[in-house]
Amino acid sequence: MERKWTFLTSHLTSLNASTRPLNGQTAIVTGASRGIGAAIAVGLARAGAHVVVNYRQNAEMAESVAAICRRHDVRVLTVQADVSNAADVSRLVETTSAHFGAPSILVNNAGVAHTGLLLDMTEEEWDSIMTANLKAPFLCTKAVLPHMIARQYGRIINLSSIWGLAGGSCEVAYSASKGGVIALTKALAKEMGLSGITVNAVAPGAIQTDMLGHLSDEDLAMLAEETPVGRLGTAEDVANAVQFLALPSSSFVTGQVLSPNGGYIT
Ligand code: NAP
Repeated sequence: MERKWTFLTSHLTSLNASTRPLNGQTAIVTGASRGIGAAIAVGLARAGAHVVVNYRQNAEMAESVAAICRRHDVRVLTVQADVSNAADVSRLVETTSAHFGAPSILVNNAGVAHTGLLLDMTEEEWDSIMTANLKAPFLCTKAVLPHMIARQYGRIINLSSIWGLAGGSCEVAYSASKGGVIALTKALAKEMGLSGITVNAVAPGAIQTDMLGHLSDEDLAMLAEETPVGRLGTAEDVANAVQFLALPSSSFVTGQVLSPNGGYIT
């Protein structure tokens, strides 16, 4: 009889580990009020992680994302913070620690796009892209690292872009910022190699979110046609890649760039 219960307990534990592999962990997802960040937050919650849904302006949308996450029986907090501001980032990480304990997963997702010729770009525009896309991951990473180092465990996942790998015409500053994210990822992965902390980047192709809102229906159709799988990506396509990198079992994957792009670049 006792053997039967032991078997059942271990069976349930392994079932839980396979269906809720992030049980008990705490994830911060920056820019999670909509788009890719929202899908990442929901995916991590489904996998069992407590989630901090960060947003900059859109409180109502962040609350809707949090409500969807809570359906997965995890604890969820929305925190307003401009992640390109050091004081806001400190408050974000302190609030997380006070509610859930040390964060074990950080997804640096918040980002902004800019389209236009380099010749037309002002110095202020250049600085603001770099601050939002490259300085923010630096600030957030620096704020969570002491917690992760203390526990000798962590998963840091940075959102880059195919343009950070290949360069995009009329997106020079955006491409440079996302290329910088890849270099940050690779260098920090080496620095953190012995600390139980993995650092990886996800470099999506064209994903249907507000970020592509400036494109016409014809432009979007053309992009889909140019993509070997014949469609644009969804936020969930990216969330799946993030979730893989967040798993405890992905401990031998670090310093890598995973690019969900439908074969657009190989
Ligand atoms: P999106 O729909 O425009 O959403 C951007 C999110 O980032 C929003 O939640 C926004 O918050 C937040 N945000 C922006 N600046 C912030 C700041 N300083 N502090 C806090 N939150 C901030 O963008 P997305 O398409 O989901 O893109 C997410 C990430 O994937 C970005 O890093 C982007 O570069 C990258 N990416 C996107 C694509 C694509 O085709 N969509 C392709 C490759 C890479 P509010 O709602 O409060 O403003």
